[in-house]
Amino acid sequence: MTAPCPLCKKPADQAHLPFCSKRCADIDLGRWLKGVYVLPGAASGPDDEDAQTDSAPDDAIDSETP
Ligand SMILES: [Zn+2]
Repeated sequence: MTAPCPLCKKPADQAHLPFCSKRCADIDLGRWLKGVYVLPGAASGPDDEDAQTDSAPDDAIDSETP
């Protein structure tokens, strides 16, 4: 009835679904956290540059207006 552990294909344990043990659950959590840590780090660079370029044209428009 229960699907096997997605990591090692052993029968899943009710206490650690969908994994067979805490060890496999921790491995999956570690992979998930790695992916989460990568996304903000990669987005932080371009986002910071965009904020700087965005403030420059706004300042130019303000000085052109009489
Ligand atoms: Zn497992």
